[in-house]
Amino acid sequence: MSTIITKNTTVICRGSKNPSYGHPKVYINTQKDGRCPYCSQEYKYNPKQNKSHE
Ligand SMILES: [Zn+2]
Repeated sequence: MSTIITKNTTVICRGSKNPSYGHPKVYINTQKDGRCPYCSQEYKYNPKQNKSHE
């Protein structure tokens, strides 16, 4: 699973776009731990991130 780079300081992780396969909605501070406690998805804060990547 690859790290998601975001310019947001807080992201919402639900595990999946499909609620049936996801987990309860959690807010993750990308400037602190940056890791979802449910699915271990990592998020990294980068204010210079632009949308042309990925
Ligand atoms: Zn998650």
